[in-house]
Amino acid sequence: MDKLSIDTIKIKDNRLEIIFKISGRWKQYISDTNFYCEYNKSIKNLPESLAVVPLLGNILPIAWVYHLKIKIKRMDEDFYNNLSEVMDGYINMYPSITFYDCLEVGELEKNGDGHSYKTACFFSGGVDAYYTFLRHRKENPVLVTVWGSDVALDDYKGWKKVNNAVKEAGLTYGAENCIIKSNFREIVNANALTAGLQHPGWSWWHEFQHGIGLITLMAPLSYADKIGRLYIASSYTADVKNLTCASDPSIDNHVRFNGCEVIHDGFDTNRQGKVRYIVEFAKQNKTSVDLRVCWVSRGGKNCCICEKCCRTMMAIYLEDGLLADFGFHGENTTLIKIARNMKYKNSALSRDWDVLHDRFLEKYTLSTVPKEWKWFYRGGTDSINNNLVFLIVKFSKKVIFRLKKIKRKGISA
Ligand SMILES: [Zn+2]
Repeated sequence: MDKLSIDTIKIKDNRLEIIFKISGRWKQYISDTNFYCEYNKSIKNLPESLAVVPLLGNILPIAWVYHLKIKIKRMDEDFYNNLSEVMDGYINMYPSITFYDCLEVGELEKNGDGHSYKTACFFSGGVDAYYTFLRHRKENPVLVTVWGSDVALDDYKGWKKVNNAVKEAGLTYGAENCIIKSNFREIVNANALTAGLQHPGWSWWHEFQHGIGLITLMAPLSYADKIGRLYIASSYTADVKNLTCASDPSIDNHVRFNGCEVIHDGFDTNRQGKVRYIVEFAKQNKTSVDLRVCWVSRGGKNCCICEKCCRTMMAIYLEDGLLADFGFHGENTTLIKIARNMKYKNSALSRDWDVLHDRFLEKYTLSTVPKEWKWFYRGGTDSINNNLVFLIVKFSKKVIFRLKKIKRKGISA
């Protein structure tokens, strides 16, 4: 019997804890049967039918893909009624996988009075999040940040800087902050789940968990805080071919609970378009927008050296924004330094650089393009990705990696 069922649900002030039981093959895929999420406000009186939603959002895809049973006594009617459309989103995205519906529910409960009161949006301080927040700022959305998502639960330093940054944004724009702490990533055995997919390049978190997993953490708050609409910022755009990502409009937009609708926002606008909107907003409002895009630096500032920092700085530059107004400071923010850091870092240029290249071509001619970036104007991403030196270094790194692996195996044998 491959079955998962709930043993105990504890709700105390701002904390929800669910202890569940598993049998059979579930044991391969679950690392911890004690799930929790904490909020920076009280969720007392939360109905059981909504309390189970955050856990379900993180385990349902496992049940669907690995043909495992889940038994639930009471469930929110909205959530249940929309699950088949959520699953359809996955089915269309992964036609090579068979999805099984093995959910058994005792009783459905109608929650929410149908009135939408407040809106909320997930917020990390990056380009996608700021674009979604600023675009909907007149709705006064609550800024929702999750500890346990991109920042691990034992990364206190990393969390401190994210927490400070999002709270600063809240103060600047007069927006309320909602902080959620949850072990939703840790309860699943991501390595086993990824291995079971047998598809190089896919990961369970990116391909199957993070959309519905994050969204459903908001179910208790939709009740406690009367949130009727939740935005989740897109990382991709509709024009990306063969995109596989758990957070997609075809999935996210169908998740619903307690009368709260979910909107996957910004899918129609690429990163350059989002940066343009943010730069325009800052100019019109004579303000600055403290973007935090860097995951390399310590202490909360953008490093201005890594690929993501360089890419974002160039995007801002191309929209005639002053880098210092958008969280990029110091000696590495000049055009020549950014070009040098990209040329000699030996990291391949991603598809986002193609979008930047299009903007270069649109904005400049060969005679007007800044001389430091003529190489990129001429050659686009090929100027690095197909550069002989880059290819040799890449090849050498691969060989060294293989040799080290063989040596390690030799020692352990
Ligand atoms: Zn950086």
